[in-house]
Amino acid sequence: MGVLHTPHGKVKTPGFVPVATRGALKGMSFEEGKELGADIFMINTFHFYCRREHETVARKGGLHNFLNIDTPLMTDSGGFQVFSLGAGWEQSTGKILKRKEKEESKEKKKRVKIGEDSVLFKSPFDGSKVEITPESSVKAQENLGADIIFAFDECTSPLASYEYQKKSLQKTHRWAERSLKAHTSEKQAMMGIVQGGRFEDLRKESAETIGKFPFFGFGVGGSFGDSYGDSKENMYSLLGLVVDTLPSEKPRHFLGIGEPEDIVESVKRGVDLFDCVLPTRFARHGTVLTREGRLNIKSSRYKDDDRFLEKGCGCKTCVNYKRSYLHHLAKRKEIYAVMLLMHHNLFYIFRLMEDLREKIEKGEL
Ligand SMILES: [Zn+2]
Repeated sequence: MGVLHTPHGKVKTPGFVPVATRGALKGMSFEEGKELGADIFMINTFHFYCRREHETVARKGGLHNFLNIDTPLMTDSGGFQVFSLGAGWEQSTGKILKRKEKEESKEKKKRVKIGEDSVLFKSPFDGSKVEITPESSVKAQENLGADIIFAFDECTSPLASYEYQKKSLQKTHRWAERSLKAHTSEKQAMMGIVQGGRFEDLRKESAETIGKFPFFGFGVGGSFGDSYGDSKENMYSLLGLVVDTLPSEKPRHFLGIGEPEDIVESVKRGVDLFDCVLPTRFARHGTVLTREGRLNIKSSRYKDDDRFLEKGCGCKTCVNYKRSYLHHLAKRKEIYAVMLLMHHNLFYIFRLMEDLREKIEKGEL
């Protein structure tokens, strides 16, 4: 187990970072998040950037003042959201392929223009023209004032070709240099991002190049999968390679990963931090993380199930609420259902992180 020291306090590692996209967790207060075990929260720069709200936040003295919290915070650079808006949307895919998307994807009109200097796109919020450069991403992140920030990168699609990935990677490296140059705040630590898609030599090249830059730590971004099925195995082996190539004394953050089994496999390979919307998104869809796998509380099989949510879980939801009642709330789309399920899902993830830290302490991992 390790500890990251930030101007706003300590972060235990390996640790999970809940995502508060627009400055709020969906269905939970920061206080509750902290009680459950969160040491640090992630805020998405992109959502503040598109409406220039980072300037408003700067006038309010930064995120800590604006949100009135003294917890460590991190912001991402916007690269991932640009991918979601562009290639991710065109090819109907996410970071990890979940089905045979290659065949299913249809050509769509390009919504994002990725150049050497910047990315250009129409804001998904109000249709206005938005440009992000490494410099403007860093400036926005300095305005937001989180403790840990990220260099601007191009997050590529899992379907991108070797040639595209190679070119993109070199651009991401140039953008990393530009991000470092633009970074002036001494109170903020910056992480560089390793890309390279599913290709071993590109991942190694990226880890070697980014690893030599004077970043505080490193994010592992982008997609790893090639086709359905081998996606995760490939991800674990490439992740191992990346972690082994990066300087061992610096922290490593796996961006956008939150499946319990992925967390365990990544911690075994030396990852320190994870951020993901998964516990929240699952809660909104009625999906509950349990030690025996997932269950969906909306399924009709829980209509007359009067057992408490997960046996042996000590969280507020599991101690007080029966499956039949939670099923009813979730089916009727009550806000309270999301709150109760999110409480359990985050409790589950933080218990997992604590177990992992304990196992590391005891030398059992
Ligand atoms: Zn529970």
